[in-house]
Amino acid sequence: MPARTGRQFMNGLKEPREIWVGENRVSDIVDHPAFAGAAEALAGVFDLQHEYAADCLVPDPETGEAINVSHLIPRSKSDLQRRHAGLQRIAEYTVGVMGRSPDYMNVTYAGFAGRCDEWAAHGNEAGAENLVAYQKHLRRNDISLTHTIIHPTIDKGAGDRIRAGDDAPLHKVGETEHGIVVSGARILATLAPFADELAVYPAHPLPDDAGDYALAFCIPMTTPGLKFICRDSFSSPRNTRDFPISARFDEQDAFVIFDRVEVPRSRLHIDCNVAVYNQVMTTGWYPNIMQQTMIRAQTKLEFAWGLSTRMCEAINALQPPNAQMLGEIWTFAEIARACVATAEAEAYEFGNGVWFPAGGPLTALRASLPQWFPRVNEIIRLLGSHNLFAAPTEAQFSDPALRPLIDRYLRGAGDVSAEDRARIFRLAWDFAGSALASRGEQYERFYLTSGARNQQMAHRLAPRQRGDRLVDRFVKDEPPAAEPAASRMAEAV
Ligand SMILES: Cc1cc2nc3c(=O)[nH]c(=O)nc-3n(C[C@H](O)[C@H](O)[C@H](O)COP(=O)(O)OP(=O)(O)OC[C@H]3O[C@@H](n4cnc5c(N)ncnc54)[C@H](O)[C@@H]3O)c2cc1C
Repeated sequence: MPARTGRQFMNGLKEPREIWVGENRVSDIVDHPAFAGAAEALAGVFDLQHEYAADCLVPDPETGEAINVSHLIPRSKSDLQRRHAGLQRIAEYTVGVMGRSPDYMNVTYAGFAGRCDEWAAHGNEAGAENLVAYQKHLRRNDISLTHTIIHPTIDKGAGDRIRAGDDAPLHKVGETEHGIVVSGARILATLAPFADELAVYPAHPLPDDAGDYALAFCIPMTTPGLKFICRDSFSSPRNTRDFPISARFDEQDAFVIFDRVEVPRSRLHIDCNVAVYNQVMTTGWYPNIMQQTMIRAQTKLEFAWGLSTRMCEAINALQPPNAQMLGEIWTFAEIARACVATAEAEAYEFGNGVWFPAGGPLTALRASLPQWFPRVNEIIRLLGSHNLFAAPTEAQFSDPALRPLIDRYLRGAGDVSAEDRARIFRLAWDFAGSALASRGEQYERFYLTSGARNQQMAHRLAPRQRGDRLVDRFVKDEPPAAEPAASRMAEAV
């Protein structure tokens, strides 16, 4: 099947699955008030690929059918640029608010399949073969995939490492004729209600004696025993004029319980193999997926700058302190753009003929964003002040008695009408102050692990040579010789 349409995506969500939100187990995702808006927005993502086919679609290398460019296994710098154009289309559609639109997992599995040589190490040839077959299934059926990779927190004081015998983290409990049986839990699975399938793959490394926890697989959301407990919905009523962001983009986050779930052998990518589990995420995964996440983040930052500027213009509030804060947001957006461009320009072959962006600039950016995004929200709230709460609804504008008074007392500066002003300030609050905005801030702090861990990793992965050489000139009297930038990037990954 070639790339799907929005309608085909919506039809897929009708399959029965165990999704809980608030007081209910939900039987109809597409029509439930917690999910309907985001389901429609995600259908828009599927339709978008046909509308902008030149950017978003490429031929499947074997069937020739049109598939989303996020499935492309990059084999050159120009493949990465090609992928950039498609990823940017999707990021612009959600203005970066949906972190886990399906392209996120598509890029992940294209990278895994491209480096199947790493998955085949340590005696895991069968798992690697299954993984390559799965990526074909994913791209040819244009599946919406969610993922869950973090073990639940029970006792943080016990440290990060799993101990053999822990019953809470997802682990293997048995074998059947056709596969294995797993039980336990993982946290979280963003996009779960809107996914066709669920992916499990490695995150934090495991000790040698924790083999039962060393699992990777993908299974349909409809698999018996899979239970998804969603957080409270932050989706607003489906009025995109009053709630332009939260009526559309609540992608949801779910806690995942595996209650004696059978995983078919053909869907197993790692079956209790600690050596391969601890190795496959350590080279190209991070720079590969960061191309998607950082194009999204850059788009969100540039949207935030555009929105804040319009907010200030609407009330003629561009005085120096405000202009300084606007410049602060633009600086974040421009540094993000420069990091992505540098990472793509310095891309190189990671092995097996696969090209990923250079990791250094993306690692630096990822480590900075948990500070930048909360600051962006703070700036929007400072710039907006009380005006964020003086933005009438569509219904209030429709009241014939109220309308002339609103037009008079809530107009903007110059020729900015009350309606234009209200739409800008409502958009700003929905983006930076609403319940969904607060969830978005939490997401930016924690996706792909916490800011604290990202900064530690930035230091750990940083190339030593140039820093050492600059210092050695003074402490060892060595001459200051130059070295090519490319070697720094290669060393950083
Ligand atoms: C909105 C949202 C959506 C998510 N979606 C998904 C998803 O789709 N799939 C998925 O698998 N996971 C998802 N996650 C989970 C996410 O991956 C984890 O929250 C993230 O990896 C952090 O988990 P952790 O326990 O390793 O946190 P940690 O890195 O341990 O951080 C927890 C706290 O400890 C602090 N900390 C950590 N290390 C140190 C240290 N050395 N010194 C001092 N303090 C430290 C951190 O600053 C933080 O305050 C999501 C999380 C959120 C919030």
